Amino acid sequence: ASVGTAVPVTLIPGDGIGPEVTNAAKRVLEAAGARIEWHEHIAGKQVFLAGNRTGVPQETLDSIASTRVALKGPLETPIGYGGKSANVTLRKLFETYGNTRPARTIPGIATPFSHRNIDMVVVRENVEDLYAGIEHMQTPGVAQCLKLISQKGCEKISRLAFEVARAEGRRTVTCVTKANIMKLTEGMLKRTFEAVATEYPDIEAQYMLVDNCAHQLVRSPESFDVLVTTNMNGDILSDLVSGLVGGLGIAPGANLGKHAAIFEAVHGTAPDIAGQDKANPTATLLSAVMMLRHLGQFEVADKVDKAVALTLEKGPRTGDISGDQPPCGTQAFTDAVIANLG
Ligand code: NAD
Repeated sequence: ASVGTAVPVTLIPGDGIGPEVTNAAKRVLEAAGARIEWHEHIAGKQVFLAGNRTGVPQETLDSIASTRVALKGPLETPIGYGGKSANVTLRKLFETYGNTRPARTIPGIATPFSHRNIDMVVVRENVEDLYAGIEHMQTPGVAQCLKLISQKGCEKISRLAFEVARAEGRRTVTCVTKANIMKLTEGMLKRTFEAVATEYPDIEAQYMLVDNCAHQLVRSPESFDVLVTTNMNGDILSDLVSGLVGGLGIAPGANLGKHAAIFEAVHGTAPDIAGQDKANPTATLLSAVMMLRHLGQFEVADKVDKAVALTLEKGPRTGDISGDQPPCGTQAFTDAVIANLG
């Protein structure tokens, strides 16, 4: 029997494959006995097309402000509408300054690294750096982009990385920057990280340049535990890390801030397979597992996590990871996960 009352969570189905994969998560969580009361709201393409320039209606913002937790599908920003993407709007409004993406070797998924024991988390700064998108033309032939890095931002992301390490019983946090070239901006993270590290004597703090890190991630991915880095480095490295363990179909993520936590797969709307029952819901299911842990529903989280792992190991698997086996559909995969809940 489930104990405790249901927690309100905002559900944003999103665009493309979003409704298919979030519906899979909803079905699995319900079957697993998660104590969640879904508040479903829209964002993305249909909102832009209806004339809202932010892509996120006020009702959706109000819902996240009150639940403080959301599970969302990918959003499309149609070209020619809106000033910025709906994702950026959500990130800015709720100040989700940290993006965490775990990656681990999953038995049954063939990759060039399947025989390696990969288990790491990339903690990426999510609101600063070049992604503030402040650009201008200096002259007609020279463009400039401003790279903004604050000490406060560096402190928050460094602390988040150490807290993730502590919460998950991890031993090492590696700070990754290009501080040898950008001594002030990238160097700000390195210096701040070193100061914050003194507050976490139980966790080993390491430092690495980003180019060497990309090299080491391929040479010895099992040697990494928690990585913390600036926005653009993190964007690139976290995709690299997703690729090491099986790609976008299985890569979950969380956007964490003081005011809200928004859980979502790393992938986009996958327009090439949308509406065809082909999408792999694993990334969203594992994002939902992260959300359950955030909500303190650890037993249900473990149950779903194990059922997903078992399904991936035994098959059937969706086309993106089925290898030479016949692929199954989103619904059939979801049914198999539910059957494996035990
Ligand atoms: P994408 O992640 O949507 O697709 C890249 C490739 O991976 C495609 O071939 C797709 O079929 C495949 N793929 C992705 N997820 C999959 C899954 N769950 N199962 C099986 N295959 C999967 O990236 P894109 O094509 O660059 O972007 C498409 C749209 O998504 C764009 O409009 C982009 O802006 C948006 N996007 C949104 C988010 C978000 O909301 N968080 C993130 C990335 C991209």
